[in-house]
Amino acid sequence: MSIFSHPAYDMHEQVAFYQDANSGLKAIIAVHNTNLGPALGGCRMWTYASDEEALYDVLRLSRGMTYKSAMAGLELGGGKAVIIGDPRKDKSPELLRSMGEFINSLGGRYITAEDSGTSVADMEVIGERTKFVSGVVEGAEHGGDPSPSTAYGVFVGIKAAAKHRWGSEDLTGRKVAIQGVGNVGFRLAKLLKDAGAELFVTDIFADNVSRAVQELDATAVTAEEIFDLGVDIFAPCALGAIINDKTIDRLKVAIIAGAANNQLAEERHAEILRDKGILYTPDYVINAGGIIDVFYQHKGIQDDAKVQAHIESIGATLAEVFERADATGKTTSSVADVIAEERFGKRPTNGDVDQAA
Ligand code: NAD
Repeated sequence: MSIFSHPAYDMHEQVAFYQDANSGLKAIIAVHNTNLGPALGGCRMWTYASDEEALYDVLRLSRGMTYKSAMAGLELGGGKAVIIGDPRKDKSPELLRSMGEFINSLGGRYITAEDSGTSVADMEVIGERTKFVSGVVEGAEHGGDPSPSTAYGVFVGIKAAAKHRWGSEDLTGRKVAIQGVGNVGFRLAKLLKDAGAELFVTDIFADNVSRAVQELDATAVTAEEIFDLGVDIFAPCALGAIINDKTIDRLKVAIIAGAANNQLAEERHAEILRDKGILYTPDYVINAGGIIDVFYQHKGIQDDAKVQAHIESIGATLAEVFERADATGKTTSSVADVIAEERFGKRPTNGDVDQAA
């Protein structure tokens, strides 16, 4: 397996591998960039088919965290950790403590948080061996679920997109299709409903759909129909890569704005959306409410008004992205990348210098 020439390496500062025979831990921590501060990112536990798959995932995710935190104006770098194993079968307090020792060995360059396959309770066990766990304040108390902040940030971002597209952030009567009404999607649905929007929802869990239908008067649609509705806004809040060759021609919407990470299957899909006249809000910009919340938890700052104002700054950041995209003809996602790189001070590669020339 190649490391420095890996296609997802992208100038990572550090990649650390760790194995502990006693606890069975096999893990990787990737620190992409610490120019703005320590690298903060979740610790994912997953049944990776191979070490290569785990490496690819951690590199891609840690790079994404650098861009997300830089765009959110946080004094944080980007990093991520993966534990190779089945969270339902292989997780034990020993394994989590061992992970805590691994994180601690990086001396604070990487700060962990919950992610897929790990929970708030797991962070408390990891916190027995390291203080570099987000939200752990004086001992082992975790700050809590960031989903409400993520949902609020997405709502703010949708209003910014509406303002840019229609000249008003008023969502009264706007039709919004939400894919996935889980932790973030349901809260977003509530905010949209209160703002006067008409909702169409889908989820693979029937309970989640019924909750939205009963409590928010949403219209239920199937997992496939969600792509074919002629609505104003599509809000992906379930899984990644849903804007792909199979779905892109079916989307007849004005705006795509949702919480899911890595919504575009490939970067070229951003160009297709631009050419179709669909305004795409880059995922890592609009879904940064959670990391903003986690940042304040980590700093031990309990000031709701400050956190809310910071989350609301997502609107201004998106407005800048939309304006620069309009002015240059570039896609919103490539403009967001450039702004993030300006903020975290990406060292230029030869390719970048050539492009700039
Ligand atoms: P969640 O698991 O609570 O909700 C996701 C929902 O999507 C679930 O109800 C699930 O049943 C549904 N779903 C899965 N596949 C589906 C499909 N094919 N069609 C329809 N519904 C489907 O997760 P969440 O915390 O709400 O996060 C949603 C998305 O936002 C994820 O992509 C996550 O990575 C991203 N995100 C979340 C946060 C956060 O603070 N929770 C922060 C940033 C990004």
